[in-house]
Amino acid sequence: MDNSLLWQSILSSFEGKISKLNLAAWFSKIKLKKREQNTVTISVPSIFVKEWLQNKFQRDILLSLQKFIPEIKEIKYIISPNEKQENNGKQQNTQSKIDFSQSKIDFSCNRLSGLNSKYTFKNFIVGGFNQLPAACAFSIINNFKLQNKPNNIYNPLFIYSNVGLGKTHLLEAVGNEVLNLKRKKKVKYIPCPNFTSHVISAVRNQTTEKVVDEYKSFDVLIIDDIEFIAGKEWTQEIFFRIFNDLVNNGSQILLSSDRPPRALEKIEERLKSRFEGGMVADISPPNFEERMAILEEKAKEREIILPKEILEFIAQNISKNIRELEGVLIKSFFLFQKDQNTKSVIFKIKEVFDAPKKRISPERVSNVVCGFYNISHKEVVSRSRKKEFVLPRQVIMYLLHNELSLSLPSIGVKIGNKDHTTVGYGCEKIEEKIKKDGDFLKDIEVIKERLYNI
Ligand code: ADP
Ligand code: MG
Repeated sequence: MDNSLLWQSILSSFEGKISKLNLAAWFSKIKLKKREQNTVTISVPSIFVKEWLQNKFQRDILLSLQKFIPEIKEIKYIISPNEKQENNGKQQNTQSKIDFSQSKIDFSCNRLSGLNSKYTFKNFIVGGFNQLPAACAFSIINNFKLQNKPNNIYNPLFIYSNVGLGKTHLLEAVGNEVLNLKRKKKVKYIPCPNFTSHVISAVRNQTTEKVVDEYKSFDVLIIDDIEFIAGKEWTQEIFFRIFNDLVNNGSQILLSSDRPPRALEKIEERLKSRFEGGMVADISPPNFEERMAILEEKAKEREIILPKEILEFIAQNISKNIRELEGVLIKSFFLFQKDQNTKSVIFKIKEVFDAPKKRISPERVSNVVCGFYNISHKEVVSRSRKKEFVLPRQVIMYLLHNELSLSLPSIGVKIGNKDHTTVGYGCEKIEEKIKKDGDFLKDIEVIKERLYNI
């Protein structure tokens, strides 16, 4: 057996033990160089990879080798930073094709409850920044555990914060945990825009009573981003009925919003006072140590291995949004994997931090997205509701809002004079899809990379 075949066989014995992401990223750069009596020499691209391999896989590699060549007793390493892959040109393509859905993260969404099983307390970091809402959440769960019913003090639990600080994660973790403890409980998670469209179509089809009865039957009802109910009078009317019935029946309600109840506009006073009737708790941005803890958890979850210096650099520079922390972590992983150089990765991410918002224009966003989906600008701003135009249109809305921080009404104007609620709904749809669809997350990462040109 030649060296490369032998190494392939060893790698195949690692499948399942290590995520595909890591297999593709790291092991593709490692080669079996030499075999001598009882020693093999492995070439690695950097000291970092050597140490990682030694600490985590030395024993496994040796055992696998011995299955083929029993007399092997020792592994030696040489560092060959310049050794390129045979198909170096192709490598960049395969990188962007790495299958996130194959990594160990489970993006599955439970159809009945609407809950995404990836959001649990196991991967949720609690610190000063989210202590109050997390404590309320634990108390709700404890009540289910001990008394099998909700906690009146925290009903509803109303959590608010800016985007990307963990509202959805926390709410879904409560839902998942209740279901874990009590399989028979009826738990429902629904983003507010979906709730609104459910109610509107019920009114249109004259099935309102059926829908109200359905919602009244839940033991736990979680509505995410309740601010989207603003200005929707029918939905508010129906939600008010559902809310009162649920509380009277002893069911638990959890809500999230981007602001406290008092600051909500175009929402009936009686609803706001119901929201304030339970517990209102906010999440603030995490401090440096908390950001490091979150980064380390995310890296562990995705099996991303990066020098601590890079993690610290990310934590120092991104302070307001945990989703962004995660995005830059993944970006850094790909960059580091390409050139194995901590300083150059830091330099490249720094470039992105320093300039992106100034550098890219709305036109650039539109061009990049249209190019990615292979459609024209005219099609994307049209009124057509064909699937192949709606998704890119919503991606543009999402990027203009999240990357360029444009307001919803101004995005509406740019994208063919659409209403700001349409834009809000579009952004929300994309956020949901990113969370639930690993392939789509990968597409967005690629689009962002093209946008910022790194
Ligand atoms: P929001 O709903 O407030 O916009 P999300 O719940 O969607 O924020 O969180 C954004 C990302 O950050 C998600 O990927 C989530 O898993 C992660 N996240 C947020 N808070 C935490 C935390 N305390 N620990 C670990 N990950 C977190
Ligand atoms: Mg959310």
